[in-house]
Amino acid sequence: MWNRKSILPIVLVVLLVSVVFGAKVAYAQQPNGIAVHELLRGSQPNYIDIPSVDGNVVLKCDFHIHTVFSDGLVWPTFRVEEAWRDGLDAIAITDHIEEHPSKKFVGGDQNSSYEVALQEAKNRNILLIHGAEITRGQEGHYNALFLTDANALNPKDFFEAVKAAAAQGAFIFWNHPFSLRPPEQSPWCEIQEKLLAEKLLHGIEVFNGEEWYPDALQWAQKRNLTVFANTDIHGIVSEKYDLTQRHRPMTLVFAKAKTEEDLHEALRAGRTVAWFGDQLAGKQEHLTALVRACLEWEVVPEGDGSKFRVTVRNLSDIPFVIESKEAKMRGRVYLGPKDSASHVLPFKPSGDVLITNAYVGRNECLAVNLVKSSPDAAETPRSQ
Ligand SMILES: [Zn+2]
Ligand SMILES: [Zn+2]
Repeated sequence: MWNRKSILPIVLVVLLVSVVFGAKVAYAQQPNGIAVHELLRGSQPNYIDIPSVDGNVVLKCDFHIHTVFSDGLVWPTFRVEEAWRDGLDAIAITDHIEEHPSKKFVGGDQNSSYEVALQEAKNRNILLIHGAEITRGQEGHYNALFLTDANALNPKDFFEAVKAAAAQGAFIFWNHPFSLRPPEQSPWCEIQEKLLAEKLLHGIEVFNGEEWYPDALQWAQKRNLTVFANTDIHGIVSEKYDLTQRHRPMTLVFAKAKTEEDLHEALRAGRTVAWFGDQLAGKQEHLTALVRACLEWEVVPEGDGSKFRVTVRNLSDIPFVIESKEAKMRGRVYLGPKDSASHVLPFKPSGDVLITNAYVGRNECLAVNLVKSSPDAAETPRSQ
């Protein structure tokens, strides 16, 4: 006979086996932890297709971003993940030199956000540009890119801070130029003249966050400044922008290759276009080159040759609104990403069009002839 003491371990073992076995049976019948995939957002990057422009790759960039290392709300590696998801090639984290409200809890210095994000950027093939935002008083806010040590931008005097950035070979651009001055005053004043004279100002935001500045585009044209569109994001990109409808605002850079050196060279040469919502803004030559790379124009005779079928194809993910400049042909065509439109006309169209969502001046849209973008452009006369 077994006494109670000797039975107890056997009972425990039997109980344990039955629990484990029972759990296995339950798992087979009703598994737990099944991912409900329809609830999840895709983890694939949202690739943005833009053909090369004059032999240059078109890099999609955001050069104005904040993290918890200034007054932003997110960790630096999250910015890299966002950029990767949004199809960007390059970003600059540009935390304020002067403002770091959570420093007590986060610590670090002016280089920390770059250092924290760098490996994640390498893992995801994002060019991470070492940047900072110089945020003083009435002088305005300026981003410095391609820094080697953002801690050196600490001098109290504004011009000394900008000179310290320039001494590192930094590219410097003016942020949200209309945010500090009252509306009755032009923000362009002696400060910008002095910066220009000392070669300390190289670019300007024509778009920031949700604001577009047509006057800044005029200044960029006149003073030969590189144009930018940036998010200046402090919170979460997908919470601020409806990414199901449009891409986040970005600067398109026409670079020889996707390297930091080529990106820097392209910014110095001014080869950029600002893209925000369904609109583009930039200098005439760069917008012309972009539009010709993206739009394919084809004219084919129909029937007895008195009619012509004209087809416009959008090879890119950028939307274009096209208006013919010919008196006989009125109306606008919206060409969404990879869209095409085709019409039969009783005359041979010249290819002279306005791109009404591409701005080259305050109230001026891009006028361009599309014939050269066609493969048989050489045989096609420019006008009839
Ligand atoms: Zn700012
Ligand atoms: Zn900012």
